[in-house]
Amino acid sequence: MRIARTIAELPASEGRVGLVPTMGAFHAGHLALFAAAREENNLVVASLFVNPAQFGPSEDLARYPRDEKRDAQLAEEAGVDVLFAPPADEMYPEGYATWVDVGELGRRLEGEFRPDHFRGVATVCLKLFNIVRPDRAYFGQKDAQQAAVVKQLVRDLNLGLDIRIVPTVRDEDGLALSSRNAYLSPEERAAARALPKALATRDLQQAEHLLADLDVDYLEEANFNGQRVLAAAVRVGRTRLIDNVVLEGETP
Ligand code: AMP
Repeated sequence: MRIARTIAELPASEGRVGLVPTMGAFHAGHLALFAAAREENNLVVASLFVNPAQFGPSEDLARYPRDEKRDAQLAEEAGVDVLFAPPADEMYPEGYATWVDVGELGRRLEGEFRPDHFRGVATVCLKLFNIVRPDRAYFGQKDAQQAAVVKQLVRDLNLGLDIRIVPTVRDEDGLALSSRNAYLSPEERAAARALPKALATRDLQQAEHLLADLDVDYLEEANFNGQRVLAAAVRVGRTRLIDNVVLEGETP
């Protein structure tokens, strides 16, 4: 596996290229995306970039878990060909000024609690798509609204690549794997289990009841391009967790 730090170091692509955008701190959720990409492409590129543009001023950018050595090892074992791990100024050099606004979809749910989050996500994804020129890009159902935003971006700007959505990978206790789970103390982790338990009821009222003791940002039924999901964001201590279950409809 090659590690590229600059855009110029990326290899010219031959055959089908699959891109997996990530922020690192790999877990089995990321590995499922790598496996899906490995299965249907000649070249698999994973990006590892903790994108400052998608973090709010009071969010966890500074303490976001980073372990590039471990990530590189796991990516290599998963069959990734190229790990693109640029410094922030390679992506946002001085004078950077252009941003992608995905409209109403970016302002609901997560967007209400994280203003400018999806603007940062859409912008970095468009940049990565232009830099890597993939035929397919892989995202997790865990971040259902992000997946919908990326699909909207691809459709609206005629980007001409396939977006593949991989089902959510969960731990034995039901909690969706997330790099942010590392922040949880054992007590917080026990409390966090209420989130997947509540969503698993697939019933808004029962879920509300089960989340009564947690600090809930939102718990809503949402429709993303015809796929209905029950989605929630909760805060457990200083950690913010999101999750969703599909109620109806295929991943569009
Ligand atoms: P992140 O590094 O957290 O930005 O995640 C990179 C990609 O992995 C995103 O497309 C996420 O939706 C996806 N992902 C994160 N957690 C999971 C999970 N538990 N199951 C499946 N995909 C996931």
